[in-house]
Amino acid sequence: MILRKSPAEMEAMAKAGKIAAEVHEIIREALDPGMSTLDIDRIAEEQIRKRGAVPSFKGYRGFTGSVCTSVNAEIVHGIPSADVVLAAGDLIKLDTGAYIDGYHSDTAVTWVVGGDEAASEEARALVRRTREALWAGICEAHVGNRVTDISAAVEARALPHSYGVVQEYVGHGVGRSLHEDPQVPNYGRPGRGPKLVPGLVLAVEPMFNLGTAETEVLDDDWTVVTADGRLSAHWEHTVAITADGPRVLTARSDEPEWPLADPARVPGRAPVDAREAG
Ligand code: MG
Repeated sequence: MILRKSPAEMEAMAKAGKIAAEVHEIIREALDPGMSTLDIDRIAEEQIRKRGAVPSFKGYRGFTGSVCTSVNAEIVHGIPSADVVLAAGDLIKLDTGAYIDGYHSDTAVTWVVGGDEAASEEARALVRRTREALWAGICEAHVGNRVTDISAAVEARALPHSYGVVQEYVGHGVGRSLHEDPQVPNYGRPGRGPKLVPGLVLAVEPMFNLGTAETEVLDDDWTVVTADGRLSAHWEHTVAITADGPRVLTARSDEPEWPLADPARVPGRAPVDAREAG
C-alpha cells in the first residue's frame, strides 16, 4: 500500500531529512585514515541524538549500528566495527537515517577516505557517475511520471560504462516506516509502475559496481558485497513528490533542495560528453 503524506507530514519528514544530511556533513569533515567504522558510528549516533532524533537503523531487524558502513567491495549494510580501520583511498559508503516526530529519513553517500585524490581515476569516476545517476533519477521524480521513469534514468547513467547495476537491493518509499511501498528499482524500462503523485516520498538509491552486478551476503548475515570483489558505489536521497517538483529532503548544503528550480546545482547536469571531452 502506498501512503501519501500530508503537507504537515512532509514538513516532519523534512526535519528528519535535514538531520541525516547534517550528520553526513559532520562525518565527512571528521573522516580520516586510521579511523574505524565504529568511530564513525559513534559520531553518527551522537549527532543524531543531539538533534533530538533517534537513529533509524539502530535495532532495525537487529542491526547494531546507527549507520551502515560498507567499504570498497561492500555494497550496503556493512556493520560498524572497531576491527575495520580505514585507509587512504578506501571507498566508504555511509547510509544513515534519523527518526523524529514519527517519521524517518534515509540517505547514503560514498566518500573517498583521505580525499578524492587518494583513489584511482577508475574509482573516482565510479563514485561520481553513481552520484550523477542518483540526481538523474531525482530529476525524473515529478508528477506526471511513473516510478520506473526514475529507474530508467538511473540505469542510463550506468550503461555507457558497463557498470553492474545492483538489482537485489532497490529504493523504496519512506515515512512512518523506514521501508514502505513502492519499490524503486535502479533498472528497467520507463513508464511503468505507480504514478508519481504529490505526497509520495521515495528513497532513490543507485548502487553501481565496477564489475558484475551479482551480489553475495557475508556470514554476518548483513554485509552485501560484490560477487567479484570489485568496487561498488552507493548514493541515496529521500525525495518528496510535490506539485512544485521533487524536493530533496536529505539535500546537503552543496546540493539543491529543489533541483528542477535550481538546475545549475544538480550534480552531472552538464552533458557527459562535454565534461569528459577535456
Ligand atoms: Mg534506503
